Amino acid sequence: MQRCFLSGVGEEVADKKDYYELLGVARNASDEEIKKAFRKLARQYHPDVNRDDPKTAEAKFKEINEAYEVLSNQENRAKYDQFGHAAFDGASGGGGGFGGGGINDIFDMFFGGGFGGGQRRQGPERGADLRYDMEITLEQAASGFNQEIEIPRTEDCTACQGTGAAAGTHPETCPQCGGSGQAQVVQNTPFGRMVNVTTCSRCRGEGKIVHTPCGECRGRGKVRKNRRIQVTIPPGADNGLRLRISQGGEAGTRGGPPGDLYVYVSVRRHKTFGRDGDNLIYELPVSFAQVALGDEVEVPTLEGMTKLEIPAGTQTGAVLTIKEKGVPHLRGKGKGDLKVRLTVVTPKKLSDKQKQLLAEFAKLGGETVKSESPSFVKKVKEALGG
Ligand SMILES: [Zn+2]
Ligand SMILES: [Zn+2]
Repeated sequence: MQRCFLSGVGEEVADKKDYYELLGVARNASDEEIKKAFRKLARQYHPDVNRDDPKTAEAKFKEINEAYEVLSNQENRAKYDQFGHAAFDGASGGGGGFGGGGINDIFDMFFGGGFGGGQRRQGPERGADLRYDMEITLEQAASGFNQEIEIPRTEDCTACQGTGAAAGTHPETCPQCGGSGQAQVVQNTPFGRMVNVTTCSRCRGEGKIVHTPCGECRGRGKVRKNRRIQVTIPPGADNGLRLRISQGGEAGTRGGPPGDLYVYVSVRRHKTFGRDGDNLIYELPVSFAQVALGDEVEVPTLEGMTKLEIPAGTQTGAVLTIKEKGVPHLRGKGKGDLKVRLTVVTPKKLSDKQKQLLAEFAKLGGETVKSESPSFVKKVKEALGG
C-alpha cells in the first residue's frame, strides 16, 4: 500500500507565512538550497514521524509542501516574488480549483484514504485479533465452566525478543531511509505535485536491518506457537456471547501490543429443554383426566426431578411456572424459571369399557356423540339400557 500526499491544494489563503521563511532559506536562495531545505523539513515534519502530535505536524508538512511547490517552479517563484500570496489567490492559484474541500477529502476521492487512517506502517503496530468458536452444552452454560483451549498464533521470538537479530548482535538502523522505513518520490500529476510515500526498498519498511539473523526465527522476530489459554465461561452464557481475552491474539509488530482473542460461544440444542433467554421450556404431555381432575407430577430440571402441581381444570397449552429452575442471569443475581407447557394428548386406542364410560360421561354433560362404529353404538345402547 502506498500513501500519497497532495501538496498545495484546497488551502486557506489568510494568515499565510512567507514561503522563504517557512523553508528557512534566503530570498536569493538557489534551487538546490531550496530543494535541500525542503527535504530536510519534510523528513522532520512528516506526519508518520511525528506520532505525538500528528495534527500539528500534518499542518506544518502541508505548509512546507506548498512553499516548495511554488518556490521550486521558476514561473511561480517569480510571481510570488512580485505579488506574494495574492499571486495564487482564488481559482487561478497554483493547485486551486478543488474548492473548500480539505486535503483529506481529496485523498478519499482519489486514493481511498488519508492522514490519520491509523495505518502507520513505520510505528509499532498492534497484532491482529483472533477468533475462536466454542460450542458448549446447556448444562455448561447454566453452571459456567473453565476450559483450556489451544490457539495457533504468532508470538514474539523469545530468543531474540522479537528483534530478529542473533544473540549478542543488534539490528542496524537502515542507512537508506534513516530508520523511517519510507522512501519519498515526488511526482507531477494533473492534480498538482504529489509526494508519493512508499516503503523503503532496502529495509522493506522496517527501518532496521538485521545482519546476523536469529537462528530460532530465522530473523523474522516472530514464531508460530500453539498457545494454551484458559477460558472461563460465566454461568448464564448463551448463543452470541463473545468473550474478549485481552492480548490473546497475534503478536504486534515493531514493539506494538498483541491483538485480542475473541471467544464466540454457541450453546448446543438440548434434548429435553428449550431455552428462551434465561427461562427453560419443558413440554409435558398430559391426559384429559390429569388436567380435568388435577394431578401432581414429576418434571425434570437441570438439577434433577422436581414436583409440579397441575390444578384441576387446566387447559391444553397452559404454561405452568416453576420459579428459579432456569438458567442463571448472566450478569447479576438470580435465575430464570422453568416453564412447563402442557399438551393434552387424546388417546388413540380405547378399550370398550373406556368407550362406554366416555359415552356415558358425554351424555351426563348433555352431549350426543355420534360414533362411526355401529357395533360400538349397539353396545353402548345395551349398556345404557336404551
Ligand atoms: Zn528470534
Ligand atoms: Zn530503510
